[in-house]
Amino acid sequence: MSKRTKWDTKGDLDESKNLPIYQHKATLQQAVKDNSFLVVTGETGSGKTTQLPQYLHQAGFWSNGKIGITQPRRVAAITVAQRVSQEMHCSLGREVGYQVRFDDCTTQDTVVKYMTDGCLLREILADPVLSQYSVVILDEAHERSLNTDILLGLLKQTLSSPDKASKGRSVPLKVVVMSATLETDKLSVFLGGCPVFTIPGRTFPVTSKFSCAIGPKDTESSVYIKEVVKVALDVHTSEMAGDILVFLTGQSEIEKACDMLYEKAESIDYRYDVQDHKVEGLLILPLYGSMPTDQQKQIFQPPPPGIRKCVVATNIAATSLTINGIKYIVDSGFVKQLNHNSRVGMDILEVVPISKSEALQRAGRAGRTSAGKCFRIYSPAFWEKCMPEYTVPEIQRTSLTAVILTLKCLGVHDVIRFPYLDRPEERFILEALKQLYQCDAIDRRGKVTRLGELMVEFPLPPGLTRALLQAASLGCEDLLLPVAAMLSVENIFIRPGHPEKQKEADKKHRQLGVQAGSCNDFTMLLSVFEKCKASDAPSAWCKDNYIHWRALKSAFSVETQLREILLRLQKKRDFPMEKFDGNKSELFRRCLCTGYFTNVARRSVGKVFCTMDGHGSMVHIHPSSTLFDQEAQLDWVIFHDLLVTSRIYIRTVCPIRYDWVKDLLPKLHEVDVYELSSVAREEVTDEEVAKWMTKETYEFTAVFKKLEK
Ligand code: ADP
Ligand code: MG
Repeated sequence: MSKRTKWDTKGDLDESKNLPIYQHKATLQQAVKDNSFLVVTGETGSGKTTQLPQYLHQAGFWSNGKIGITQPRRVAAITVAQRVSQEMHCSLGREVGYQVRFDDCTTQDTVVKYMTDGCLLREILADPVLSQYSVVILDEAHERSLNTDILLGLLKQTLSSPDKASKGRSVPLKVVVMSATLETDKLSVFLGGCPVFTIPGRTFPVTSKFSCAIGPKDTESSVYIKEVVKVALDVHTSEMAGDILVFLTGQSEIEKACDMLYEKAESIDYRYDVQDHKVEGLLILPLYGSMPTDQQKQIFQPPPPGIRKCVVATNIAATSLTINGIKYIVDSGFVKQLNHNSRVGMDILEVVPISKSEALQRAGRAGRTSAGKCFRIYSPAFWEKCMPEYTVPEIQRTSLTAVILTLKCLGVHDVIRFPYLDRPEERFILEALKQLYQCDAIDRRGKVTRLGELMVEFPLPPGLTRALLQAASLGCEDLLLPVAAMLSVENIFIRPGHPEKQKEADKKHRQLGVQAGSCNDFTMLLSVFEKCKASDAPSAWCKDNYIHWRALKSAFSVETQLREILLRLQKKRDFPMEKFDGNKSELFRRCLCTGYFTNVARRSVGKVFCTMDGHGSMVHIHPSSTLFDQEAQLDWVIFHDLLVTSRIYIRTVCPIRYDWVKDLLPKLHEVDVYELSSVAREEVTDEEVAKWMTKETYEFTAVFKKLEK
C-alpha cells in the first residue's frame, strides 16, 4: 500500500483551496461517513466533481474499496479524471483512472474511478452490491440521464433492503448523489428523506439580452450558425476583456462555426476595429464529445496575454465542464437530444430548442468569477413559444429497450412498478418489451432467454447485437464484428463543405463502394474497415479516401473489444451453433435481417419506401447511401437508422429478399403491446399466455429455438 500513501497526504493543487467546496471538506467527509445516502448540491464550478472524490480518498474510504464517480458524458469522465490525476500527482490510469464504453483506463491500483453511468450499470449487472466500491457518487443527477435515473432506482432498492445490501459486503456501501441546484428536494424524498448538503455558492449577476435574429420559425442550422458567429465577433470587437463561450449543438456545426470565425477574425484590424485595446487577438477552440483529448486540454488553459479565448461548445460546457475566465455567453438556443419519435417509432437524435431552465444554466456560466453578459440570439417570442420550462428527463423520451433488458437480467421482473424517479409512460415500457420479445431476448412470459443473457453483455443496440450473435452462431462473426464497430463510432466518411472537394469526396466514396463488390452500405463499412486495416499506411489511405482516420482507429479498437466479449461468451457457455449453405453475401445479409427485420421497408412508388413496422412511414434513401439514385432497382431493404428533417431518410441501407424476412415479419404484429403489460408486471402462467397468443404466434422461427428450454 505504500504506493498509495505516497501521494495520499498531498492532495490538491493550490487553486483548489479557493473553490467554494474547500471550506466544507471536513463536514462533507463526516456526512458521507454518517449516512448511506447523501445529496450534495452547489453551483456548477464549486468543485463537486473534482474535489469531493479526493476528500473521500483523504478520509480513507479507499481502504474499503474504490471510490466510483459516474458521469452522463464520456468526455466529462475522461477530462475530469485527467485533471484529478494531476491534482493528486499520479499518472492517469494508476490511482486515478476512468472507464467509458470501449475505453478502460484503469489498473489494479485505481481507487478513484471516474466512469460513465452506463459503465456502472454494466458493473451492477455482474455485481449487484458493487462489492468493489466503498462509495459510489452519482454525479450530474440533474441531467436526468436514463442510466443515472436507473442507477438511482437500483441503489435505492438495494440499500433499502438490508439483507440484500449487506450480502457480499464487509462494510455498507455509501451513495452520494450530486446535482446542480435543481430538484434536490425531490431527490432527497426519493432516497427516503436523506440529508441534503448545499455548498453555498458565489455567483455574480449576468445580464441576458434577447435578439430578434431567431424567431419561432427559424430552425435551420445554417441560420443560427451564422448568427452566433456574428454575435461572437461583435462581442469580441465591442466588449471589454473576458472569454467567450458559444453554445451550439454538435460537432459539424461547431466545426463550421469555428471555420467561419477563423476566417472573419483574420480580417479584424486591431488598431481600429476593437474597442478594448487590451485585446489583440482571438483564440478559437471547439469543444465536443468525440474530440481528441489532447485538444480538449487546451480548453482549460488560460489564453496568452492580450488574447481572448472563444470556446465553441456543445451542451457539455453547460454543467459537466467548467471553463474558467468566461465572461460572455452566446446562446444559440438549440441542443441535440435523443428523442423517441412516435411518428416513426424509433429513437432519433434531433436538434430541438433548449428549455428555459437550460437557458438560465447556460447564462449562469458567465457569472462565475465576475459579472457577465449572455447574448441570446433568439427572440422573446421564441422563448415564450418554443422553449419548454424544463428539459424532459431522458427516461421519458427515449427507447428503454437496453435498460429494460438490464433490469430483467438483474432480476427486476416488475419493470412497471420499479422505483423510477420519474415514471416513463407505460406504453414506452411496453414498446421496449415488445422489441425485446421480437429480438428473442425475452420469452412470452417476460423472462430473459439464454439469448437475452448473451445480448445484455454487448454495449450495442439490441438489433445489432442480435445480428452479431446470429453471425457468431453461423461462424461468420468476422463479417459482423467490423460492421458493429463501425456503427458504434462517429461517422467515418468525411464530406467537406467546399463544393469541389465535396464532389471529389463523393466520387472517392463511390469508388470504394464499387470495389466493395456487392453494393450496400453495410458491406461498404466492412470493406473500408478491411482495406484500411490491410493498408501499410492507414492514415494516408484514409486521407486519400476522405475517411476519418481517428474514427477508424476507434473502430479498430471497438472491434477488438467486441471480439473479446464474444470470445468470452463462446468459451463460458454452450454457445449456439448453426449451419448455413449459401453464398457469403446472402449469409451476411441474412444475419443482418435477424436483427434488423424490425427496420424493413419496401419500395412503393418512385423513390419512396414504406416501412413495415406498423407505422407505415414513407421514407427516402439518404443521399449519403451507396444505393442513392438506384432506388428503381430495389424492392425490399433493411436500414440501420432514420434521419428526420423535412423528409424521413433511412441511412445505412441494404437490399434484401422478402423470403429472408417472411418468417420474421409476423413477429412485428403478433404481439399487442398491451397484452405484454402482464409480462411487465409479473411472470404469467401458461394459461394466461395461451389466452392471448395462439400456438402459431409463439413458434420461434429463429435458429435459437432450441435454446428456449
Ligand atoms: P462542479 O463539479 O461543482 O461543477 P468542478 O469540480 O467540475 O465543479 O470544477 C471545479 C474547478 O476545477 C473549476 O474551476 C474548473 O475550471 C476546474 N477544472 C475542472 N476540470 C479541469 C481541467 N481539466 N483543467 C483545468 N481545470 C479544471
Ligand atoms: Mg460537476
